[in-house]
Amino acid sequence: MTAPFKAPIGLMSAMHEELSLFLQVMPDEQRVRAGGRDFWQGHWQGQPVVAVLSRIGKVAAATTATALIERFGVDRIVFTGVAGGIGPGVNVGDVVLASHFVQHDMDASPLFPRHEVPLYGHSRFATDVALSAGLARAAQAVLAQVGAHVGSVAMAEFGLHTPRLHTGLVASGDRFVATTNESRALQQALPDALAVEMEGAAVAQVCADYGVPFAALRTISDRADDDAHADFSRFIQAVASRYSLAMLSAWLKQKQED
Ligand code: SAH
Repeated sequence: MTAPFKAPIGLMSAMHEELSLFLQVMPDEQRVRAGGRDFWQGHWQGQPVVAVLSRIGKVAAATTATALIERFGVDRIVFTGVAGGIGPGVNVGDVVLASHFVQHDMDASPLFPRHEVPLYGHSRFATDVALSAGLARAAQAVLAQVGAHVGSVAMAEFGLHTPRLHTGLVASGDRFVATTNESRALQQALPDALAVEMEGAAVAQVCADYGVPFAALRTISDRADDDAHADFSRFIQAVASRYSLAMLSAWLKQKQED
């Protein structure tokens, strides 16, 4: 008897460093090219997955999410990557699990309220509660043993002590926020936003359109201030990509046991 068909899980990231770690642990990945991107079909922890690099920005992320759904038939999408911390106490090395996304650069006022996506009637797109709950468990387990995943050298280098998991609003827009002034303006416009990045709200909107569950975990790489660019690549390589690998691996393992 052949095993019943199981729809794959879509795994998206915006950074090469992360995707290359995923590909190292997938035993059987096959490359399929679509929409100018490489999609990697295979298995991880016994689950069918399609891993893909979205590239940076909302349009690239929306195209990638649409292809994952339309062409590869994924039944959920999980995004991992890095983000700038803008909420108080959201520090480098912490992880933010998005409960909602907003496009901080959407502004069709005065026709529509600022941030509202025209003709949707709202500005915030929620992530999937059950999917997010599973990822939160995996993230907590990894953060509880962070030294084992990133090593003491990287912990000391980036001043990581007891990284925390935060859950809440994440703001996306087509800007790398790298000045203290801009970060303050964002905080004023969206006081409950915990972090800023460049893709999540686009994926959330596509997933809402298709009714596909979506969740996103972002490791805080910077504080979106005047120092935001410092050591960015090194942080992704030494810390964020390791967190993502460990968190997704723990999550997929957990699913096997469910
Ligand atoms: N120097 C990098 C550029 C990365 S752009 C390169 O050459 O590849 C920043 C990426 O990290 C985006 O994918 C975005 O989602 C996320 N990000 C991290 N910190 C951010 C910040 N302060 N503002 C906006 N996006 C940020």
